Amino acid sequence: MGSPSTPGRLTVISGPSGVGKGTLVAALLQRHPDLWLSVSATTRAPRPGEIDGANYHFFDRERFEYQVQAGGFLEWAEFAGNLYGTPRPPVEQHLAQGRPVLLEIELEGARQVRRSFPAGFQVFIKPPSFEELERRIRGRGTDDEEAIKRRLARARQELMAEAEFDAVLVNADLGVALEELELLLGFGDACHVQ
Ligand code: 5GP
Repeated sequence: MGSPSTPGRLTVISGPSGVGKGTLVAALLQRHPDLWLSVSATTRAPRPGEIDGANYHFFDRERFEYQVQAGGFLEWAEFAGNLYGTPRPPVEQHLAQGRPVLLEIELEGARQVRRSFPAGFQVFIKPPSFEELERRIRGRGTDDEEAIKRRLARARQELMAEAEFDAVLVNADLGVALEELELLLGFGDACHVQ
């Protein structure tokens, strides 16, 4: 199947909310700036510190639904009461230029990408335990109780789907998980985590 150093490869990083996908992907990008991370659109309100166009493109529902109708998303899904989608044109442009592309998305979106990019490589990140995941989601302190409950219910469902993925990685320790992810993506020979 090749590695992300193969021109134009698409890699999906998925796993339940709170598992640390974002932190892991940020660390991966810092070490491999040749990777291009898609910036998703969402109807979720920005969290403190999130920047429009960098963390997400923050859309209202009308604009999001217009893009759905126009075929502007490679995939999209509803998650915990909000809509999330991957804008199609930049992904296609980067792949056409031979740049390895990363998507950090939830399960329904990963399934859609599996259909449209069957040769893509899909990695599932899971927590050491459900209790640890709950601790992380609550510890983030950014969601109200209602949103936390929705995220936890969704996480239980997502955790049952790990067999659908090409690889599964337990995120107990960031440094170890990063090294394992690098190995999976074919960067293993080039570097060691400090
Ligand atoms: P959060 O609200 O915590 O930023 O994201 C909630 C969930 O939505 C996470 O699991 C995240 O990976 C996922 N997500 C972010 N962007 C997208 C996207 O473009 N498409 C899909 N399907 N899921 C996304």
